[in-house]
Amino acid sequence: MRNYIIFSDLDGTLLDHKTYTFDPALEALSIIKSRQIPLILSSSKTRTEIERIQSHLTLKDPFIFENGSGVFYNNQVVSFGINLTEIHDKITPLQKTFNFNCYSLLTIEQAIHYTGLTEEEAKLSQQRQFSEPIIWLDDEERKNDFMEKIHQLGLNATQGGRFLTISSHHDKAKALKWIKNSLENDYQTKFISIALGDGENDISMINACDIKILIKNNNEHLQRSDWVLSEMCGPSGWNQEIMKVLKYE
Ligand SMILES: [Mg+2]
Repeated sequence: MRNYIIFSDLDGTLLDHKTYTFDPALEALSIIKSRQIPLILSSSKTRTEIERIQSHLTLKDPFIFENGSGVFYNNQVVSFGINLTEIHDKITPLQKTFNFNCYSLLTIEQAIHYTGLTEEEAKLSQQRQFSEPIIWLDDEERKNDFMEKIHQLGLNATQGGRFLTISSHHDKAKALKWIKNSLENDYQTKFISIALGDGENDISMINACDIKILIKNNNEHLQRSDWVLSEMCGPSGWNQEIMKVLKYE
């Protein structure tokens, strides 16, 4: 049997964009578990948020958090980015020119308002270590000027499903390659990698894998010629495409 490893985004991919459920993917998830295929969650979410989702999924694999700024592997954080205080020191002066808020500094009520999360979930989502989602309150046309300034500061701005997230230069692909190499060493095997994602911040991750799956979410413009576009959205699409790859159609 071929050895697969799966790298998956969460919001809009394994989790429904609106309800955050993964129930439509339960069939594929149970096969992944029975075949002991590593399922590496890879998201802009924080470490504590992903740990909570992992416990719902009864998963114990390593994972990628805050868009690749950090990896959690063998109960240790491996950092690929600069910390939040350094990011704040760099971007706070830009608030004189542009109108925006930092997500981690919002009140809990505001965080709930912008995400639709429960209070407990919203608290976890504000516990950031290496990246800061931006609440953009300025004109949409000024966003490019803002991104330009961010790049001049040596930082990166990545558009996710909900927010523009500021971090140092890194992406999900670097963290993915690090995890894949580490697991291949640990297991003394070579994996065939499968990536599933739906956003711009997933492009590098999808391109870095052998089987490249874009989960449909009004995002057809992102598709490349060697990518598979799922027929269905969110966890339903996730389930169907994984079943096809694992030959359980
Ligand atoms: Mg997504």
